[in-house]
Amino acid sequence: MDRLGELEELANEIRSCTLCRLHENRINAVPGEGSGSSGVMFIGEAPGRSEDEMGRPFVGRAGQLLTELISLAGLRREDVYITNVVKCRPPGNRDPLEDEIRACLPYLRRQIQILRPRLIVTLGRHAAKTIAMEAGRSFRGMTRERGRSYIAVVAGVEVTIFMTYHPAAALYNPGLLERLREDFMKIPSLLSPAKRGATLDDFL
Ligand code: SF4
Repeated sequence: MDRLGELEELANEIRSCTLCRLHENRINAVPGEGSGSSGVMFIGEAPGRSEDEMGRPFVGRAGQLLTELISLAGLRREDVYITNVVKCRPPGNRDPLEDEIRACLPYLRRQIQILRPRLIVTLGRHAAKTIAMEAGRSFRGMTRERGRSYIAVVAGVEVTIFMTYHPAAALYNPGLLERLREDFMKIPSLLSPAKRGATLDDFL
């Protein structure tokens, strides 16, 4: 089976998942979308209301902004892979709980193993913290880590990890939006083999 077939098979598993309480109120699970052919994977926190209604990631206003930012980075939305740490919407858009993240993590790991991305861009604190823990390091907060990158092994795959804000946080904050734009403009250089991020040892 090819990569897209494997992703679709996994997506079907996610759509029928009842491993945590978040399945109780969902309209649709949101496995993720995109071919990932550019080698770039974006990971947000959790689906919101529009995503839950449509079963697709980042389709609301934050999603429109993400699409613009992806094109600012010289990429096309259909060529990246977009997903979240948890695949079902937490009620009232609350933060996902630790046990919900733990229950859902095997799906994200399998997505990474299928896609074998060169670059993972984490969007917001929850994604940055989750991926940092998967990479075997502690997370020191967005203020210190945003806009930085490091190379690590996540789910058995060596990958550059780059941390930035969640687009939803920039919708009403022009200062944050400017920093988010600056970060996305660094993506092309992070994909260049000569300019990849610091190693984990450099970062600790
Ligand atoms: Fe399953 Fe993840 Fe949805 Fe929980 S959030 S029900 S673990 S797919």
